[in-house]
Amino acid sequence: ASATKLAEIDPSKLSVEKTAAPKELTPPEELVFGRTFTDHMLSLEWNQSSGWLPPRITPYQNLSLDPATCVFHYAFECFEGMKAYKDSSGHIRLFRPDKNMERLNKSAARIALPTFAGEQLIDLLGAFCALEERFIPARRGYSLYLRPTLIGTQRTLGVGPPGSALLFVIASPVGPYYPTGFKAVSLEATDYAVRAWPGGVGDKKLGANYAPCIVPQMQAASRGFHQNLWLFGDDEYVTEVGTMNLFAAMRSKDAGGRPELVTAPLDGTILEGVTRDSILALARERLVPEGWIVNERKFTMKEVADAADEGRLMEAFGAGTAAVVSPVRKISWRGREVECGLEEGSEAGPVATRMKDWIEGIQYGDEAHHWSHKV
Ligand code: PMP
Repeated sequence: ASATKLAEIDPSKLSVEKTAAPKELTPPEELVFGRTFTDHMLSLEWNQSSGWLPPRITPYQNLSLDPATCVFHYAFECFEGMKAYKDSSGHIRLFRPDKNMERLNKSAARIALPTFAGEQLIDLLGAFCALEERFIPARRGYSLYLRPTLIGTQRTLGVGPPGSALLFVIASPVGPYYPTGFKAVSLEATDYAVRAWPGGVGDKKLGANYAPCIVPQMQAASRGFHQNLWLFGDDEYVTEVGTMNLFAAMRSKDAGGRPELVTAPLDGTILEGVTRDSILALARERLVPEGWIVNERKFTMKEVADAADEGRLMEAFGAGTAAVVSPVRKISWRGREVECGLEEGSEAGPVATRMKDWIEGIQYGDEAHHWSHKV
C-alpha cells in the first residue's frame, strides 16, 4: 500500500514560474537535434518519507548537486525519449505516451529509483508542452523532443537505494531526421563488443547502457559506416542497431516464398521500442491481410546474409522515435558487405516507406487513432 502511496503525483499542485527572458526561436531549418531547449523545465522531487513533492515548472536552469550525489558515482539515471507534435489544427499531440511512462517506470524500478503514476506525469507533460507551444513547429517532420529524466540525488558514497530522487523533463525542438527525404544508412556489425545480455539491463533505458556504445559507434564511423549493428552470442543473433530496433523483410524459403517481416523478440537483450511495437501492430493489422508473415523471433546475421545471397532479402530498416524508420542499404559483416535489397538509386523499401507514412499520419493527427494523445 505504501508503494502505491509513494507513486502518486498530484498534478493539481503544479506551480508555474515563467521565464522573464523568453528565448528567440531557432529557425526550423537550422534546428540540430538536442542543441536548443525551450524556456522552461518540469521538475518533481521525491524523497522516501514524503513521496513525490508538488511538481514545478520553472525557467530552464542548471541543477545544483553536491559532488557526492549518488547519480555521479553509481549511475542512478534513467530516461525517456518521446515527442510532441502539432497537428494541422494547431493541437498538440503525444504519441503513445503511456508506453514511455511504462518503460520509464520499469527502468526506474530496476535501479531502485521511485516509480510514479504514468497518467499523472502525462497530464504534467501536457501542461508543460502547452506552455512551450511556440517552440513546436507546425510542420510535418518537426516536433518537440521531450526528455524525461530520473536521477538519484542522495548525497552519499554509500552504495544503496537512493533516499531521494529528481524527475525532470527538458524539451528540444527538432526537425526531420531526413530533411531531404530518406537516406539509406550502412551498418557495421560489431563483433568485439556486446551491448546487452540475458539477465542484464539492455531492455531498460538506463544512461549507463549508452556511454559504452559510443566507442564501437565511433569505430564503425571511422570506417565509413553510419551506425553499428549489435549482434549477440556465438550464433550472432541480430539484436538492434545504434539507438533503433531492427526489422528485416525476407521472402521465406518455404511457404511459397511468402514475405516475412521479422524483428528480434523481447528477451531482455533489446530495448522495448515504442516504434517497434507500433510497426508490429500495424504490420499485423495491415500487412498480414496482404499475405505477410509477421514474426518476433530470433534470427541470425547468417540468415540475413543467406537471404541476401539468394535474392530473398527485400529490405531492412531501423525503427525508433528519432527517424520513425531508417532504411538500411548494406551491412558489413565478417569482411563482406551484405546488400539489403534496395535497388540502385532507391533510398527506402516499400515497407519502410509505408510504415513511416502510417505512423506519421497518426502522430500528426491526420489519421484518427487511439495512439495519438491530444493534450
Ligand atoms: N533501441 C535503443 C537502444 C534506443 O535507444 C531506442 C530509442 N529509444 C530504440 C531502440 C527505439 O525505441 P523507441 O522506438 O521507443 O524510440
